[in-house]
Amino acid sequence: IVVSEIMYDIAVISGDGIGREVMSACEYLLDKLDLKLSFKYGEAGFDCFNKNGTTLPEETIKLANDSDAVLFGASTSTPGQPSPIINLRKELNVYANIRPIKSYKGINSIHDDIDFVIVRENTEGLYSQAEYGDENKVIAERIITRRASERISKAAFNLCVKRGQSKVTCVHKSNVLKKTDGVFKESFYKIAKEYPQIKTEDFYVDATAMYLITQPQNFDVIVSSNLFGDILSDESAGLVGGLGLAPSGNIGDHNGLFEPVHGSAPDIAGKNIANPCSMILSASMMLDYLGEWEISNDIKGAIEKVISDCKIRTPDLGGDSSTMEVTKAIVKEII
Ligand code: ATP
Ligand code: MG
Repeated sequence: IVVSEIMYDIAVISGDGIGREVMSACEYLLDKLDLKLSFKYGEAGFDCFNKNGTTLPEETIKLANDSDAVLFGASTSTPGQPSPIINLRKELNVYANIRPIKSYKGINSIHDDIDFVIVRENTEGLYSQAEYGDENKVIAERIITRRASERISKAAFNLCVKRGQSKVTCVHKSNVLKKTDGVFKESFYKIAKEYPQIKTEDFYVDATAMYLITQPQNFDVIVSSNLFGDILSDESAGLVGGLGLAPSGNIGDHNGLFEPVHGSAPDIAGKNIANPCSMILSASMMLDYLGEWEISNDIKGAIEKVISDCKIRTPDLGGDSSTMEVTKAIVKEII
């Protein structure tokens, strides 16, 4: 393993439930690899609220802003309180949520040759957390701006170039949401002109939900607004092995925050059976973001090997190994 001597400051926010379990597994792995990372810890989430009266303390925001990258576990939602991760993404202005979807050898699924990525707009759409009204009528704001739509399209085209793939698909519902998704789609085609070598297409979100099942091989990069991107990426995670294998990165012009797609999974928390792969794959995305491509690829390769060996797996993938057993098996493949 060759790693440069740079020291990166990494903000570690474990959060609640299995967020803490998969984060400590992830830290164990990163420690074993002797990377030049310096961990600084921040609190957020439900337990944090009970202790500090806020789900996202100012110190945590500052810590995240001052670091080279952020690792986030998961948070349990707190009734009546804002979501810490939605607000943290906003504070860091990490506007592009990147969710790679790739088939794993040894995972039983309807397709075994999937390799695409979903780029989800992270700052607006139906996630404004602005709902109002009275007892009989309630309204949720869906904000779409040209600025954010062009910015996310650009991120999608750049990622397509980086991955060496050939097509970007814009997903929307402009037949119903004529104004908001009209702007989203127009912005996409405006940015597309800057990338004449990349093919483009656009689909309605309902049709896309079907194509993801019937012909997911046709996708390279999918770009969509906040809620559609969220739903399609859980569907896609289900195509290739479930939430235990689904990493994500939230990237902006100055910050990167990396987290598993899954939540705090209260149903399995405390049992040491959470699959650590989504968290560890998120850390691998972080290393790629920091420019440490080699070790990033080594980690991905080690996970592919452990999964395809079919011997050491957590229960979500049909095995009976623990979080740490899987983590140690991954470490063993790398060093
Ligand atoms: P939250 O409100 O925090 O999102 P949730 O109840 O929606 O919690 P998720 O974490 O989103 O739970 O998970 C949905 C389901 O997938 C749960 O049944 C959970 O057990 C399972 N799951 C999620 N992540 C993992 C993982 N890393 N390993 C194993 N099972 C998981
Ligand atoms: Mg959930």
